[in-house]
Amino acid sequence: MTQWMLPSIEKVTKQPTKAALDYYKRFNQPCILTYSDNTITSIFQGTGIAPLQHPLEREFMMLGVPMSQCGHCLSREIEVIYARFDRPLEDARPGEIICAYEVFCEHCNYFTYREYIL
Ligand SMILES: [Zn+2]
Repeated sequence: MTQWMLPSIEKVTKQPTKAALDYYKRFNQPCILTYSDNTITSIFQGTGIAPLQHPLEREFMMLGVPMSQCGHCLSREIEVIYARFDRPLEDARPGEIICAYEVFCEHCNYFTYREYIL
């Protein structure tokens, strides 16, 4: 059984919290790697991609972090527009891994940002 993590931060807003305000114009692909230092931090952004198709979905699920639903209306018709994953170099200590993502809800048009410190 997977133990789901609770977010350390959750923000439900009418404008993006982490994604760029003009994310829908700025990007011309659903999801691309926009930052990587090759060892720890990866950030993906884009116009929006279904959680199951997101490159980080597997890593997040293994850590108990589902990109599951809108924080406003609980709809699962969401698209991931921002995601960050900090991969530890060796055995992680508590507080070392940060997972974060932001989704746009197609149903109510709200943005939900969640950050997890594991
Ligand atoms: Zn919603």
